[in-house]
Amino acid sequence: RQPIIAIDGPAGAGKSTVARQVATKLDLVYLDTGAMYRAVTWLVLQKGIAIDDECAMPAASEAIAELVSQCNIELTPSHDLQSPVRVWINGTDVTQAIRTIEVTSQVSAIAAQSAVRQALVKKQQSWGKKGGLVAEGRDIGTHVFPDAEVKIFLTASVNERAHRRQQDFKEQGQPEVNLEQLKQDIAERDWKDSTRKVSPLQKAADAVEIQSDGLNVSEVTAQIVNYYQQ
Ligand code: C5P
Repeated sequence: RQPIIAIDGPAGAGKSTVARQVATKLDLVYLDTGAMYRAVTWLVLQKGIAIDDECAMPAASEAIAELVSQCNIELTPSHDLQSPVRVWINGTDVTQAIRTIEVTSQVSAIAAQSAVRQALVKKQQSWGKKGGLVAEGRDIGTHVFPDAEVKIFLTASVNERAHRRQQDFKEQGQPEVNLEQLKQDIAERDWKDSTRKVSPLQKAADAVEIQSDGLNVSEVTAQIVNYYQQ
């Protein structure tokens, strides 16, 4: 099979931008696994399944397992680096809907459900059978593609990640968001993603860690391309 580059790391470390650049440079397909967890979260919210009610959780888990086992997710790789990768779930284009604050605040809870992980990891592995991928997420090097040729763990301080997010919102013309609030949200998602029982966010033993504070996208991209070519 063709090579696979796995890029894992916490929220807001710049994985998506960097992974797309690396994929474009090396002519590989970019796979945004976070978008898949977001799409399932969007569907769960749309169906009105009560996920913030502890008591209703067992029934919700069953309903979610059922939903995810039957859902059809499609991602279209876009070669234009400026426009987003399009995401569909059950035929609905959710490219923008999966980026709302509501989805972002609930996605970690949905991604902690083992039925959700099993179903999505299976899809990711089937898409990656022939290789030729730059896959980005939280568990790519540890669980999805443990045999990936290159494994990167991309991090940045909470402060740096909050500043980057704020800049992203600005560039997208969205209303100004409070920096402290962003830091809190990021720290909370880090905590949820790294303490969950199933495949927590973790650096694979054989991954190279890149701490990206003070580095721009092209510098990080160049480092990864370099590891790949070595
Ligand atoms: O990368 P992104 O911020 O879009 O991911 C959204 C959420 O999806 C993460 O906070 C995490 O809870 C979940 N996720 C995951 N495993 C992956 C990718 C994302 O659990 N491989």
